[in-house]
Amino acid sequence: MRWSLLAVCFLAASFARAADPQPLTPIQKDMTAHLDKLRDELVQVNQDIWNFSELGLEEHRSAARLVAVLKKAGFKVKEGVSGMPTAFVAEYGSGKPIIGILAEYDALPELSQQASGQKLPATGRTTGHGCGHSALGTAAVGGAIAVKEVYEKYKLKGTIRVYGTPAEETLIGKVYMTLDGQFNDLDACLHWHPGTRNRVWYSSSKALISAKFNFTGLAAHASGSPEKGRSALDGVELMNIGANYMREHIKEDSRVHYVTTNGGQQPNVVPASAQVWYYVRANTHEDCAKNFDWLTEIAEGAAKMSRTKVTMQLDTDCHEIIPNTPISKVIYRNMQKVGAPKFDEADAKLALQLQEPLRTGFGLKEAKPLNDTVEELPEKPYTADSGSTDVGDVSWYVPTSGFGTACFAAGSPGHSWQNVAAIGSPIGHKGMMAAAKVIALSTVDLLQDAQVLKEAKADFDTRMKGRKYTTKIPQGQKSPKSIR
Ligand SMILES: [Zn+2]
Repeated sequence: MRWSLLAVCFLAASFARAADPQPLTPIQKDMTAHLDKLRDELVQVNQDIWNFSELGLEEHRSAARLVAVLKKAGFKVKEGVSGMPTAFVAEYGSGKPIIGILAEYDALPELSQQASGQKLPATGRTTGHGCGHSALGTAAVGGAIAVKEVYEKYKLKGTIRVYGTPAEETLIGKVYMTLDGQFNDLDACLHWHPGTRNRVWYSSSKALISAKFNFTGLAAHASGSPEKGRSALDGVELMNIGANYMREHIKEDSRVHYVTTNGGQQPNVVPASAQVWYYVRANTHEDCAKNFDWLTEIAEGAAKMSRTKVTMQLDTDCHEIIPNTPISKVIYRNMQKVGAPKFDEADAKLALQLQEPLRTGFGLKEAKPLNDTVEELPEKPYTADSGSTDVGDVSWYVPTSGFGTACFAAGSPGHSWQNVAAIGSPIGHKGMMAAAKVIALSTVDLLQDAQVLKEAKADFDTRMKGRKYTTKIPQGQKSPKSIR
């Protein structure tokens, strides 16, 4: 009896969780209706940024496109924030609380692709939005504008702030904006990311340090007088060997990857300069920093062995995400209310085409073309996937949470041509519009609910106990001017 009662209670509880969401309140109806009206404009913004496909720190037209939309809607905008021409902060309203919304808009190299089910490069560019940031920035801006639209009518109090954060792919924008104190006065911060699933981003991420090691040797005829030369490339190669031996003795969640960005020009000249670019990652910033310290010693050892010199240029030091339960619950509630994107037959057909090479070539087992349900919020943050994001740095200063909506074919890998195609198609538009609505609803909930902000802060304080934000970026170092 007791057991069956328990079972009934359990069933009732799980049914309650999966039950129909609460209906939209009048303010929520107004915001979603406004976003439906804005749909064509937002789709065009996504399409424009998708066509620009600008790499990090070069997103001039993309940032300007979002800034123009925000200005037209009545936001005050500061451009060129934290020393980055493509960073901006847009604001509406005044006073506390202040709710931040993060926008990104950088593309990726070597991913030129049309919005097609076949792998077909787009003409005139080599870049593509393989991470869906064209829609990411657009939905963030759309969500903020929907809140602005109802601000006076419902006598809202507080400030909405949209952060235009450049160069997410190389984890630069938010890191330097954090170091510049841009997020310090926020009460909460929201973010989202296009994905293959509809779920709250209720997890951490990997910390990451990015640095370039420049070796300098002495040029000489490689055959005529090799004894007079010192090979900078030898320095790079010895460093890479050392790093690959280090790999076995660091924590399993760590990642070390590199590319040789300069290895000399031709074999008969001993390379006088060479460069290798490293990403070092781990699940905690503390471990990441330890791995990086070891790597710098390896670089020095390699320079000694090759009798070359080495200098290091540290580009960024990004922290893991600190999850936040109360804000995640707010987002989850609103994801249920808004629902997953409603895909049609044409979307499913395109998704199946995109999945086809993954099924035949890479054994993709996904049965569905697209994920069209909202996943439940787990009891505890789920295990982090293997990526890094500079949202992490914001989350070390402000209670932060985010979510993903299905904008890509189910099971497709990140940074793929399939994702460039999907985000530029109606699949991406639908995921983006659902995201804009969740952002709008969640922003208003946070503006109106002092209790949830208090709980979010308490959750933040608990998770931050024993942690201190430290960085390997030298004090006062300005953000890089370019990535390469
Ligand atoms: Zn991304």
